[in-house]
Amino acid sequence: MSTDPRSRAWVEVRAPAIRRNLQTVRDRVGGDAALIPMVKANAYGLGVERAVEVLEPVGPWGYGVATAEEGRKLREIGVSRPVLVFSPLPPGEYGIVVRERLIPCLSELGAVQRLRQAAEEVGVSVSFHVEVDTGMGRAGFDWRGASSWAERVRELSGGQLAWTGLFTHFHSADEMGGATVVGQWERFQEAVRNVGAPAADFMLHACNSAAALRLPEVAAGGVRPGIFLYGGVAGQDLPDPEPVVSVRARVVLVKDVEVGATVGYGATHRAAGARRWATVAIGYGDGLPRALGNRGTALVRGQEVPIVGRISMDMTVVDITGVEGVETGEVVTFIGTDGGAAIRLERVAELASTINYEILTGLTPRLPRIWSDDHGY
Ligand SMILES: *Cc1c(COP(=O)(O)O)cnc(C)c1O
Repeated sequence: MSTDPRSRAWVEVRAPAIRRNLQTVRDRVGGDAALIPMVKANAYGLGVERAVEVLEPVGPWGYGVATAEEGRKLREIGVSRPVLVFSPLPPGEYGIVVRERLIPCLSELGAVQRLRQAAEEVGVSVSFHVEVDTGMGRAGFDWRGASSWAERVRELSGGQLAWTGLFTHFHSADEMGGATVVGQWERFQEAVRNVGAPAADFMLHACNSAAALRLPEVAAGGVRPGIFLYGGVAGQDLPDPEPVVSVRARVVLVKDVEVGATVGYGATHRAAGARRWATVAIGYGDGLPRALGNRGTALVRGQEVPIVGRISMDMTVVDITGVEGVETGEVVTFIGTDGGAAIRLERVAELASTINYEILTGLTPRLPRIWSDDHGY
């Protein structure tokens, strides 16, 4: 087995860029807002252990994950800061949350009861945050009924349960203008007032990356940036992050073909003349979107070349006619920079009719993640 992680195909992650992107968010919202970097889904596919290592020196208040298991993993790698679990929990996962001292985000009274029961069973104290649904619709107590549900939540907590936070989530902060953000923020403010306790008793937070960058004045007590940290553009007309991720792979075969030669399943591409094709060792089994077949491009020796034919599970063919000197072993870039040329994550997402988040989280474990500092690997 080869010991070089860059022998076939890999993901490069520029660690200091993640830290600087978090600093950009902090500069934007001011030093008072607690930073809760989102590291769910294995830090958006990049590797949670290294991500935490890189983010720690910035001194975040805590971290955000989606699942109890992701929270448990953070404890395993030594994170002692608060860890918020954002998705509503399946009934069987309250025990892990309690044992690992995670902070679940609750959306209904039944969840408060289940948490209370788990805390009593394990015999420890836990705190929780309450989500307020201001239009996202997937989780949270309805913003309108705050005075009644808050009273019930308060009755159920106390003792081993401490209610320590209130938050909401914006559905369209990535879109221009931010009108819906303001509308949801007003609903949230109304709910906070109707909850009836002094707001100072709670940590308040609302902003994902896009909201923090677009309307830093709604940062409240904390912000929850994700995509921007990992080099994804957070929304229309928002500042660019520093790029973080490159996806690269090796040429494993170079061949000269004649007019009419076909390539890939379905023979969907036919050489219009004499061409040189390179087979590259990456495919949709690595997370390169199959939708890039006959549409996407790659960088070879600083030049942009077309992907020809359908992408296979393990191989992709590019037309390198006119690029001098390409041999087996040459590095091909599918996302990221090569010389002066660049293929942006957002461009790949657009060609694949999806969003940058899905491209990052879709990169499969077959690609080693190679983390670098500013000086190389
Ligand atoms: C994923 C998530 C975030 C981060 O969103 P980005 O758009 O990646 O910045 C923030 N808050 C919640 C509740 C989330 O689920």
